[in-house]
Order: sequence, then C-alpha cells, then structure tokens
Amino acid sequence: MKAAAKTPRRPAVKKPSNPSLKDPVGVYCRVRPLSRPDQECCIEVINETTVQIHPPDGYRIFRNGEYRETQYSFKEVFGTLVVQKELFDVVAKPLVEDLIRGKNGLLFTYGVTGSGKTHTMTGSPGDGGLLPRCLDMIFNSIGPFQAKRFVFKLDDKNGVDVQCEVDALLERQKRDAMPVPKTPSGKRQIDPEFADMINVQDHCKVEEVDEDNVYSVFVSYIEIYNNYIYDLLEEAPFEPIKPKWNNCNTPVRNGDFIPPQSKILREDQNHNMYVTGCTEVEVKSTEEAFEVFWRGQKKRRIANTQLNRESSRSHSVFIIKLAQAPLDADGDNVLQEKEQITLSQLSLVDLAGSERTNRTKAEGNRLREAGNINQSLMTLRTCIEVLRENQMYGTNKMVPYRDSKLTHLFKNYFDGEGKVRMIVCVNPKAEDYEESLQVMRFAEMTQEVEVARPVDRPLCGLTPGRRFRNQAFREELSRKLEMRGGPINGETEEQSVSEMFLQNFPPLPSCELLDVNDDQTLPKLIEVLEKRHKLRQMLSEEFAKNVLAFKTMLQDFDSSIVSKENYIQGKLSEKEKTIAGQKMELERLEKKIKTLEYKIEILEKTATIYEEDKRNLQQELESKSQKLQRQASDKRRLEARLQGMVAETTMKWEKECERRVAAKQLEMQNKLWVKDEKLKQLKAIVTEPKNEKPERPSRERDREKPVQRSVSPSPAPNAPPVRLRHRRSRSAGERWVDHKPPSNLPTETVMQPHVPHAITVAAASEKALAKCDKYMLTHQELASDGEIETKLIKGDVFKTRGGGQAVQFTEIETLKQESPTGRKRRSSPSNPDPPEGAADSEWTDVETRCSVAVEMRAGSALGPGYQHHAQPKRRKP
Ligand code: ADP
Ligand code: MG
Repeated sequence: MKAAAKTPRRPAVKKPSNPSLKDPVGVYCRVRPLSRPDQECCIEVINETTVQIHPPDGYRIFRNGEYRETQYSFKEVFGTLVVQKELFDVVAKPLVEDLIRGKNGLLFTYGVTGSGKTHTMTGSPGDGGLLPRCLDMIFNSIGPFQAKRFVFKLDDKNGVDVQCEVDALLERQKRDAMPVPKTPSGKRQIDPEFADMINVQDHCKVEEVDEDNVYSVFVSYIEIYNNYIYDLLEEAPFEPIKPKWNNCNTPVRNGDFIPPQSKILREDQNHNMYVTGCTEVEVKSTEEAFEVFWRGQKKRRIANTQLNRESSRSHSVFIIKLAQAPLDADGDNVLQEKEQITLSQLSLVDLAGSERTNRTKAEGNRLREAGNINQSLMTLRTCIEVLRENQMYGTNKMVPYRDSKLTHLFKNYFDGEGKVRMIVCVNPKAEDYEESLQVMRFAEMTQEVEVARPVDRPLCGLTPGRRFRNQAFREELSRKLEMRGGPINGETEEQSVSEMFLQNFPPLPSCELLDVNDDQTLPKLIEVLEKRHKLRQMLSEEFAKNVLAFKTMLQDFDSSIVSKENYIQGKLSEKEKTIAGQKMELERLEKKIKTLEYKIEILEKTATIYEEDKRNLQQELESKSQKLQRQASDKRRLEARLQGMVAETTMKWEKECERRVAAKQLEMQNKLWVKDEKLKQLKAIVTEPKNEKPERPSRERDREKPVQRSVSPSPAPNAPPVRLRHRRSRSAGERWVDHKPPSNLPTETVMQPHVPHAITVAAASEKALAKCDKYMLTHQELASDGEIETKLIKGDVFKTRGGGQAVQFTEIETLKQESPTGRKRRSSPSNPDPPEGAADSEWTDVETRCSVAVEMRAGSALGPGYQHHAQPKRRKP
C-alpha cells in the first residue's frame, strides 16, 4: 500500500522571469544489508523504484485499527546487493559529467546513524564509495588537460584568476622553497585503513571533455557541527598559542589540542555561498585529493575525541571545485582572460544522523548538540517544504535558508541552479522502523522540489581543436627538426626544442671587455651575432613555410571535420526529436501510472474498510446465533419443565374430577332415591280414592271450596279464573277432539295436558268432530323471552244446518316454562290479581324446578286436565 494521500508530482513550474527548465531533486534510496541474519527486517525492496516498509512484529499502529504497510517511490531504489560502482554510475556519474561541463552539483546522503551514509559516501576499506569514485572519474577525464599548478588561483571571494605559466612556475618555485612539513608533491602517506578506498580502478571517464580547455581541481573539506563551520584542512598553528577560548567556552591551555576556529559564510557576486578563509587545496591526482580528504578526516576524528563529540551529529562537506579556461588561439597557453574561466563545484555532503534526540538519550551538552543537529536537519526539512509549496502553489513564502548554516551554504543550489541529488540510506532492521519512516517521508517530499537546470556555459568563440592542432604542429616541428639535426632526446618537448636551437646556433664568444683597446671581442661578437641572425632568418623562413603548409593541411582537415560535424548535427537533431517525442510519451505514461496508483490506493482502502465491515458483521452474526442457540435450549428446558408440570396438574385434576364425579353420583343417587321415594308416595296418593285427599292446611282447603263449586259442565263465559289443581274435575260424557299438530315439540314440564277418552288427531278431521262435542287445539309459539309457549285453544262443536260440524272457541289456556331462580310471580293480563299463594303453594309442593301457569281466558276450565309426569310428593305435615 502506498503512503497516505500523496501529492501528485506537478510538471515543472516555470517562473515567468526565468524561462529555464527545472528538474526535480533526484532522490534515490539505498537499503543496506542487515548486520546479523537473525535481525528482524521491516523494509523490502518491491521493485526498482519502490520500497515497502511495515511495522515490525509486536508493533501495531492502531491508526484506524489498521496494520499498515507503506510504499515509497523513488527515482531508483538500490537493494542490499547493489555494489558501490552501480550506485556511482547511476547517481554520481552524471554529477561529475556536469562538473566537467562547468555545472554545479550537490549530492547528499540522508539517514539514521548506522544506515550506511558514510559507507555510501566515503566507502569502507576495499570498497570505495562515491567520493573516491568521483575523484577518480574527474582525474581520468581531465588528466591530460590539467593546467600546471598555480596557473589557476582561487581568490578569497569564491572567484578564480589565471596567470601565465611563467608566473605559475615562479610561484611553484617559491612554494617549494617554503618550509612546509609536507608538500602536495612530496611523498604521501595514506592511512592503510583507507588505502584500499581510492583503489577503485574503474577507469571511468567523461567521454566528451573539452580538450581546448585546461583544468585544475581544488578540494576543500568542512564540517558543520553545532551550527558552526570548521575548516578541516586548516593547518594547525605551528606552535600552541596563548590561552584563548574555543567555541565550547572552555579555555584552551598550552599544549592542549587547539580546536579549529569556526568560519563564516558569505555570498559571492553570483549569489553562491562560500566559507570565508577556507583552505582550498589544488590537487593533481586522485591519490593526492584523497590524501587531502583523509587529512581532514583525521582532524575530524581528533576533534571528536578531544572534545568528546559525537561524530554522527556533524555534517561533513567535501567540495570539489573545477576551474577551467580555454587555450588561446594557438592552443598553446591558457587564455589570459578572467571572464573566460569557468568555476564549477560538486559538493558531497555526509549529513548527520537524522534520528531524534530521545533515541540517543543525550544529556547536557550532548542534548544541546543533538538539539542543534535536529534543528539544522529540521531547517533543511522546512526549507524543502516551503520550496515545494512555493513551487506547487505559486506562493512566494520566504525560505528560511538562513536559519541554519547547512541550508544557508547550499541555498543557491535550490534558489539558483544546479543538480541536486539525495541518497536516502536505510537500515531495514526493526529498531529503526519509526526513524526510517520519517526519513522516507522527508525523502518523498524532497523529490517534489524542483531546481533550475544549470545552463551550458557560453563558448569562448575560438576555433575548436586548438590543442590538437598545436600538438600536431609540435610533433611535425620536432619531426622536421629531427630530420635536420638528428633525433631529439630530451625529457620534455619544450626542453628538446630549445636545446636543438641552441645546438644549431654558433656559440657566443666571451663578451667581457677588459681593455679599452680591445678591438677583437666586439667584431667577433658582431660576426657571431650576424651569423646567428642569418640562421634565425633562415629558420624563420623555414618556419613560415612550414606553418603555411601546416595551415593548409589543417584547413583541409577543418573542412572535413566541419562537414562531418554538420552530418552529425543533422543526425543528432533527428535523434533529439525522437527523444523529445519519447520523453513526452514517457511523461504521459508516468502521469497515467500515478493516477492508476492513486486509484489502486483508494481501492485498497475501500477493500480494507469492507473487510473490516465484513469481519464486524460476521462477529455480530456469530454472537447472535450463539444467543439464539442459548435461547432455544432455554426454551426446550422450559418446555420440558412445563410439560412435567402440566402432566402433574392434569393427573391431579383428573383424580380430583373423578373424586368429585363419584361424590356427585353418590349424591345424585341419593337424590334419585329420595325422588323415587317421593314419586312412589305421589303415586300412592294419585291412585288413592277421590275422597282421600292429601291433607292440607285448613286455610287453603277453605279457599278451594268455592273454586270446586264453580266447576260446572256448561261453560260460564265470565267465570272467575280457577287455580288448577293437579287433578281437574271432568264432566262425564264429554268427548274431545285433541288436535295436536305434528310440528309441536314435547315440553319438559312435569305437568302435561291430558284429555282422557279423547280422539287425538294430527290434523282437523270432520269425522272425529262428528263423534265429539268438544275440541282442543294445542298450539305452540316462541315467547318474547325465548321460552316455548304452549296454548290450548278449546271450543264447542256444533252441528250445522247443512249437516256439517262447526267449532265455537270458548277458551285459550296458556302453558309456559320459567326459570325458578329468576322467577317472579307473573300475572296474566286477564288475571291481574290472583289469590296469593294458591297455585304457588300447590306447585312448589310437587316440583321446585318449574311451574305451570294456567290462565282461563274465556269459559270454564272444564275439559282437559293435567297429568304429572312424575308423581307429586305429598307435602309433609
Ligand atoms: P552512517 O554513516 O549512516 O552512520 P555507516 O556508513 O557508518 O553508517 O555504516 C555503519 C556500518 O554499516 C558500517 O560498518 C558499514 O560498513 C556498514 N554498512 C553500511 N552500509 C552498508 C552496505 N550497503 N553494505 C555493507 N555494509 C554496510
Ligand atoms: Mg556516518
């Protein structure tokens, strides 16, 4: 996964005033091998441009609860197997090429202590780093074109002067005569520990070195510690000076190690920063340059030990300056024009460890130092941040270069022009995880900063190929001279030519005039001089001829070269066009890649969110199903318990019911038995002769007497209602037609209407009527209270004149059932005030459950009587 929310890199931002092109800072990453194979690793190289960093085991980032892996992309990533040479070819070689073409470059290593910054920059024994390799390449390239020592002279304002070879020679002689303990040309003693480092044996060189130039290399080596700049090449004073105060505010005593004095920074007319009074040593070979470096390195070590400093907290800056100037038109000497000199520099910076203070557990002075280092690296970060912001959003914030010496020194690389490259060193061990993460973030941000591409220096305007022509001329001359005066044997070309001339010239006689009258010396001298003059003229003529011949030869050569150049130029422009097209395509593809990477990042994030959701839901589901299972088992248990209880209760109730039923049956049997008894008694009463009436209270008996009297065979239309007794009087000789329609329902009353000697018919029948003189219709209907009301409609049968039968209805008797509980004495409208207790006392006697009210509407209650279903019980006296 990529680092969170990366800012897409923008295309080159051009200031309107400065149309020059810009290049992003080239950031490379080098992953060193683990020290021990059993160490835990937290960084992997994914591909040539990407590294992935993940939190080590036992280390969890609970940011959104995620275990995050982060990927960082760089211009190129070098894994543990990458050798110094490979790194040099990719990262440093282009900087050396630029240096030789007169352009500035800055290369720094950044990382935690122990991540391999020094290993990368300086190298380890037997495995030279970038610095010795850069020096080697420079000298391999400019070796044959180097100026004599002191032809170029650096001034104290970061500028350079040129002087003629004679002056340079004089200065060399003067220096050689000085009592310097060790001269650059003297015997060098390189520390055996680092002897191997310079033995890079790469034979790497820049292909297109301007051969018409002369070159000189100067090196300086400074250290920035505690925001002070020290010159590591400064010669220590010959003898200890008077006690004074060093930068650490401790007095320096005689015999003590004298700490170097800090230097100040200045800006030159080209806005480049330089260290004033800094020692710059002109070097002529890789060995010499490295020896100078090693001198400074030793001094640094001594200072660290003596002042109890932590070496990882200082920045070391090794500056290689290259002065170059064109040869004059003859291709013989350096052009003596200051404006034609180009001075370029390559700064190789081994930065202090980027770790935070708390990690080193520094105290006191150390803490202050650490704080300062922190501050200087922090200023570097801030500057990069502000620069990036200004470039991306077109703002014009002030970049705080001046806040630290480190950033101030390199200000013009970022503000002005120059190629800047950074190597981020990381140790993949787990302990460095957090620090490495910081380093990666800074590095990634750095590559979004763009610096102006250095412009090509102007051409000097002289014909190219001067050095070659001059050389060819010299060779030709010596050849000619050889032909004339024998072989030239000499140490150098210059020496041999002058010697040859001197041999051809007649020797000068003694020129000393001791006597006034001497008249021989002068004429001899004149003669010799004349001879010499003639010889010289001859030689000059010969020379002029030779020159002419050579010139024509050269012109031919020139024209052929020009035509070839034109051809090559044509080819080149063609190739450039193709390259430009390819570059555009590349840029487009890069942009596409970025977009796709961004999309992938988003998709990965979404996927993680979904996975998280899924996990949560699954957990929820599991807990719910567990809960359900628990509930089901609870339910089953409860059911079993309830079933047990129900069975128990049912059994109990069944037993109880059986017990009750048995009790009831017993009770009923008893009752039945009592009723049977009663019925028997009633039967006995009924079957008794008429005079043997049951005994009744005298009052009731008295009351019945008039009723009995009123019963007569003829119907009395307005006869008073008669309370029927259980046995009605019957007029002898009357025959009844008992008409009972088949739809009638049997009533459950104890007393049932009963007509003796009647002809019972289901439908009206004339035959029956002819035989009888009384008619009774039993009619049933539903009363308003839902009970069946049975009406006995009675009438007399007449013989009609035509010989038929007619019935005249005389009376309606209504029979009705009532609930004994809700029973109230009801009176029929025809009998509003019946004698109290008459029928009541009589019927309750027989049957308590129901009663029968008999109402006489019209006529007497003669005719049919009522017969008990059950025998009425005789009332107890
Ligand atoms: P730094 O300068 O960042 O503090 P060093 O360059 O001193 O770290 O490296 C610490 C140790 O690790 C040294 O012993 C060095 O030889 C070793 N080392 C660093 N990088 C590599 C590498 N790429 N290959 C092998 N050894 C390395
Ligand atoms: Mg180091």
